[in-house]
Amino acid sequence: MARSTVALCLSLLALLLPACGDGSAPGNRSITQSQLSADLHTLAHDSMGGRLVGSEGLNKASSWISERFESLGLEPAGDAGTYFQSFDLAWFSLGADNQLTVSGAGGARAPGHGWTPSNAGATGAAAGRVVFAGYGIVEPRLDYDDYGDESVRGRVVLMFEREPGVADPASPFDGVVTTEASREWRKVLVAQERGAAAVLFVRDVHARPDVDDWAAAHENAWPAEPRRIERFTLGAWSDKITIPAAWISAELAETLVRGSGRTLEELGIEAERATNGLGVIDLGAAAVDLSVAIDRHTTPGTNVLAMIEGSDPELRDEVVIIGAHHDHNGTDGEDVYNGADDDGSGTVGVMAAAQAYSRAAAAGDLPRRTVMFAIWDAEERGLLGAWYYTLRPLFRLEGTVANLNMDMIGRHEEVPPEGGGRFRGLEVQSAESNANATNILGYSYTPELAQTVQDANRFDLELHLRYDNNESNLLRRSDHWPFLQNGVPAVWFHNGLHPDYHTPNDTPDRIEYEKMTRIVRLVHEASWTLANADGRPTLAGFGPKPRS
Ligand SMILES: [Zn+2]
Repeated sequence: MARSTVALCLSLLALLLPACGDGSAPGNRSITQSQLSADLHTLAHDSMGGRLVGSEGLNKASSWISERFESLGLEPAGDAGTYFQSFDLAWFSLGADNQLTVSGAGGARAPGHGWTPSNAGATGAAAGRVVFAGYGIVEPRLDYDDYGDESVRGRVVLMFEREPGVADPASPFDGVVTTEASREWRKVLVAQERGAAAVLFVRDVHARPDVDDWAAAHENAWPAEPRRIERFTLGAWSDKITIPAAWISAELAETLVRGSGRTLEELGIEAERATNGLGVIDLGAAAVDLSVAIDRHTTPGTNVLAMIEGSDPELRDEVVIIGAHHDHNGTDGEDVYNGADDDGSGTVGVMAAAQAYSRAAAAGDLPRRTVMFAIWDAEERGLLGAWYYTLRPLFRLEGTVANLNMDMIGRHEEVPPEGGGRFRGLEVQSAESNANATNILGYSYTPELAQTVQDANRFDLELHLRYDNNESNLLRRSDHWPFLQNGVPAVWFHNGLHPDYHTPNDTPDRIEYEKMTRIVRLVHEASWTLANADGRPTLAGFGPKPRS
C-alpha cells in the first residue's frame, strides 16, 4: 500500500477511532512505540556488551527477558520448569598430531601442505583405499543419493564440496540458496552412516576454478592466534561424528582419481549432470593414510522460552511460536556491536507480543492453541539455538503450527550502489523506497502461512514476498530456517539489510519505531489468527517450486 494511504490514516487517527493500523486481536493495541523504544534502548545498551554467545552481557540480557516474561505471568517453557533451555556450543582448535600421506604423492605431509583438517570431522585416524562419491549428498526428499547401493564400508570417501546446480536458479537444490544437505558436517555424518572410515573434501573444480593456496587456507581454518569470535557448531551435532575429515588440494585429489581413468574436472561434469546422484566410483589402488587431532571446547548456550497455554482442550497441544534472537557480535576494542536492529528489534517485538497475550488473558481472552515466545541464542553463530530447539523441541514439531520469526524489523532496507559482497544478489535501493515496507521470506515453502500474514495486514505495510531464491542466501540466514527444514511452516519478517548491518552503528537511536510497531502488531495479529483458526497452514513439498 502506498505511503499516501499511511498519511491519510495518520490524519484520520486524530479524528476517529479505531483508525488504520489497529488489529482486531485482543491486546494488539498494547503494543506501543514507546514501550518498544524503551525496551530496545535497554537491550541494545552498551552495558549488554554486544550480547556475544557465552558472555556476561548475554546472560544479563537473558535474565532481563526472563524477568519480563515472569512479570507478565507467562509460564516457563524451558528445561525443568524454568524459562531457559540450555545447550552446548562447540568449537575446535588444532591438536598436535595431524598428518596425511597420499599414495603416489610423496611422504607424510603436515597440515598447510596441500591439505588441512576439517572441523566437521572428529579426532581419529584412517588408512586405506579411497573411493569417490560425487558431492557426497543424500537427500531423499529430492530422490538424490550419491552413494546409490554401493558400500563404502572401511573406505576413505573423496567428495566435492557444495552441491549440484550451485549457481542455477532452477536447481532442485534450493535454486541458488545453499541446501542443508550440502553442509560439511551432514556429509560427514552420511558417510559415517554408510560405513566410511574418513572423508576427504575437494574443491568443486568444475564450478569454482580458483587457485589453491594451502598455507593461507590452513591459516584461515586453524589460525595461530585465537579468533575474536570462534567458529561454533552445536555440541549435539559434533557428538554424532566419530570419523576424521579433511580438505585436500585439487592437485592431490587429481592423483587419487587417476585410477578412475577420469580427471577431476570430468568427474565434476559427470556429478553435476547426475540428477539422482553419481554413485560410488572405484579409484583402483588409490589410498591415503590420514590422522587428525582436533581439540573440542565448549561454550554454554541458552534459549529463553515462555508460553501461554491454549484454552481449547483439543488444540492446546499445538503451538504457535513467535521468535527472535537476542545474541549478537560482542565488542571489539572500544567498539560495541549493539545489534539494535539485529536482533534487538525482534527480541523486544517478541516481548511486546507476549505482553499483548498477557493483557488479553487478564481480560479473559485466551488463544485456543498454546503460544510460545522464544528468544533464540547463537543465531549469529549459525542459528544454533533454533537448531538445538528443533533437535529437542519442548512441543512436538508435528504439533507446531507455525513459527513467526522477527529478525531485523527496525530499519528500512537500503542497498547502496557498490555496496560490496555483503549485499550480493540484492538490487540497489534507497531507504526511502522501503520506508513502509518489510520482506516476508519463506513464502515459497508455505504459501498458506504467507497468505495468513497478508490477510492479517491491517497495518498499511507493504509486504514484499521476495528473496526466497536469492544469491544472498537470505532464506537460510535466520531462525525460521531450522523450522522449515524440520517440516514446520515458518516465515521471516525482515525489513532488509542496510549499511549499518553488523557494524557498531546498529544502535537504538537509528531505529524506525513507528514502522516497527506496526510490524510487531502484524505479527501478533497473524499469531492470534493461527492460534485460533480451525485449520492450520501446510508446508509445500521439497524440490523445485516457483521462487520469484
Ligand atoms: Zn539476526
